[in-house]
Amino acid sequence: MTRKKLIAGNWKMNGSLRESRELVAALTAGVSTSGANATMLLCPPFVYLPAVRDWLQGSSIALGGQDLADKEGVGAYTGEVSGAMLRDVGCSYVIVGHSERRALYGETDAVVAAKVQAAQRAGLTPILCVGETLEQREAGQTRSVVSAQVAAVVEAAGVRAFAEAVVAYEPVWAIGTGRTATPEQAQEVHAFIRGMVAARDATIAAGLSILYGGSVKGANARNLFAMGDIDGGLVGGASLVAAEFLEIFRAAA
Ligand code: PEP
Repeated sequence: MTRKKLIAGNWKMNGSLRESRELVAALTAGVSTSGANATMLLCPPFVYLPAVRDWLQGSSIALGGQDLADKEGVGAYTGEVSGAMLRDVGCSYVIVGHSERRALYGETDAVVAAKVQAAQRAGLTPILCVGETLEQREAGQTRSVVSAQVAAVVEAAGVRAFAEAVVAYEPVWAIGTGRTATPEQAQEVHAFIRGMVAARDATIAAGLSILYGGSVKGANARNLFAMGDIDGGLVGGASLVAAEFLEIFRAAA
């Protein structure tokens, strides 16, 4: 089965309106000439979403949120943004359970699982982030940590949730550190995740896109994307530099 290749840019809390506009202009110009065989996705801060949507008109680049509320509908949830609101401003994807959300904002596996469900009910494709810390890797706990993170979603939503989701394996020690996982290290965990899903539904597992995230750069993207279970990347720092992000995109496309 050929899986969808996705190159997602997580801008985190970076940029201004002017910088965002320059970045999007460079990306739309670069992508239209590259003969895309993969999808490029931009996940700017919430407040820039409508502007970025307008600048992307006529391009093949998709739009996504960096997070969403675990609550649905409307209500007294100050500061929160719902999946329906993200859809309303043109998003088709949303990052869920990024390690920064888990570590800095206390998102538990249960909250992350609720967000995956909220995203899907709103018609968004969640990008479920999983990954171990350096301490956990050194203690030989990579598989048990990742397995618990995936299992929380299976328990809450069933394996069917993975038919309409993307997984991003992001070892915490590789995010923003310049210390990229080797293609072999990443492939091992990607194959493990696919195997977990396959144990419940082989067809869903075969179609599941699993992205790698953690210091992906133009220079290392090709070797990572050459691995059999790596279906693209979730890119932080390098997604803010048009030439670098386009090089990563071309390595997948
Ligand atoms: C990320 O933000 O998900 C990420 C992987 O960041 P970086 O590419 O900068 O390591």
